[in-house]
Amino acid sequence: MTPLFLYNTLTKKKEEFKPLKRGQVGLYTCGPTVYNFAHIGNLRSYLFEDFLVRVLKYNGYKLKRVMNVTDVGHLIGDMDMGEDKMEKGAAREGKSAWDIAEFYLQAFKKDLIALNILEPDIWCKATDNISEQIKMIKTLETKGYTYRTDDGLYFNTSKVKNYNKLSHLPLSELKEGARVEKNAQKKNPTDFALWKFSPLNSKRQMEWASPWGVGFPGWHIECSAMSLKFLGSQLDIHCGGIDHINIHHTNEIAQSEAATGKKFFNYWLHSAFLNITGGKKMAKSADNFLTLQNALVNKGLDPLAFRFAALQVHYRKPMEYNDNSLVQAEAGLKSLYNQFKSLGAIDAGEKVKAFVGAVNQPLKNEFWAAVNDDLNMPQALAIIAAVFKAKLTAADKRATILDFDKVLGLDFLKAGVKAGAELELNILPDSIKDLVLRRQSARVSKEWELADNLRKRIEDSGYLMEDTKDGYRISRK
Ligand code: AMP
Ligand code: ZN
Repeated sequence: MTPLFLYNTLTKKKEEFKPLKRGQVGLYTCGPTVYNFAHIGNLRSYLFEDFLVRVLKYNGYKLKRVMNVTDVGHLIGDMDMGEDKMEKGAAREGKSAWDIAEFYLQAFKKDLIALNILEPDIWCKATDNISEQIKMIKTLETKGYTYRTDDGLYFNTSKVKNYNKLSHLPLSELKEGARVEKNAQKKNPTDFALWKFSPLNSKRQMEWASPWGVGFPGWHIECSAMSLKFLGSQLDIHCGGIDHINIHHTNEIAQSEAATGKKFFNYWLHSAFLNITGGKKMAKSADNFLTLQNALVNKGLDPLAFRFAALQVHYRKPMEYNDNSLVQAEAGLKSLYNQFKSLGAIDAGEKVKAFVGAVNQPLKNEFWAAVNDDLNMPQALAIIAAVFKAKLTAADKRATILDFDKVLGLDFLKAGVKAGAELELNILPDSIKDLVLRRQSARVSKEWELADNLRKRIEDSGYLMEDTKDGYRISRK
């Protein structure tokens, strides 16, 4: 078996992945700012993270994955000036910032299901962890890393060594990246807010008391405080899109290492952007964004066509979007599904316990080597084509493809099973198995609303879960 190599932004090298604790991985992925729908650019980043999660699992690691939800403190300018994105979203829609956050979080979770993205083990909202953030800021204050200006408490970046160790950029270039609306009281252009004060003459919807005055946390502190809280010493991998390298992740590292005196995460992975043809980055703030709904669902395209499109481009290369690209991706995906179906579909009324065929080891080794080479998914897809062409029995081909699908997440099973066929738990895709097991434990603890919710999500993914006298029955919808 080829060892797993990942490109680490910190060292600018592909490195063999070695977790801090044998067989276990702590993974933190910066989550959505819930003031609007996710656009397909954001979703490309979450797909990359899903490929990473699945490859880690394929290698046998036990994962603890945390995703934060930014529901306060992310200002329009990444340099801590301008309006709060949440309060702006609330004003736009005439709702409270809290309602906006909940609405867009649920919409985001639906997108994850539609794209067959595995859910993190822990979701954590910035607003649920204010005291942890305040505690960390206090530590930084005690250690002499902070100073006060009229609008907040700031982190003094000149007090840390190697502030640019993630960006590898000279400080002068980081300065140039700073937004126009500057705080003249800042000591260094790269300094950032840890705590912002509420305006004197108006009340914010989201604000808290703190030792420095009523206000709200800066954006970066939430990820430091929550990754340390939920992962403890298991700080293996931290991910996000490349736009997070120079500011958000750089600041997370600076403040966390200043507070703890220890290294903060060993591996930093970043995905390139999805661009609209012509090289323009898709951005929520640019209003040029396409959601899963308007880019795919409204056009009658299968959302998994977007997953397939993302698999076709290596995550460190830009992905181009144009009106035709997803139509082509869907045609490619359907052709793979048809090839899978031609191996023999499972009929309604049949019960599928396990697949007869055997996973072909030489092809599996090739596939494994591809995905372990810094998630080379385009190469992995080429091996799928090789399976269909290989001199193997239909049953062996089917078993091999379903094994690869643990990583690809294209749900070949659904394609190869006719409506009504009953499926045993052990052959369900991981994402569905996860939902089924969670629903069972929700029922045991009599959390009926959660159980209903989970059943609905299983249904949205194309499977039915019915309760029976002795347990439950899963079938293809
Ligand atoms: P946000 O909800 O704005 O905090 O962003 C969520 C994630 O999407 C972050 O990891 C960003 O780096 C990433 N992201 C933002 N724009 C794009 C884009 N056009 N292509 C790929 N990823 C993006
Ligand atoms: Zn973050």
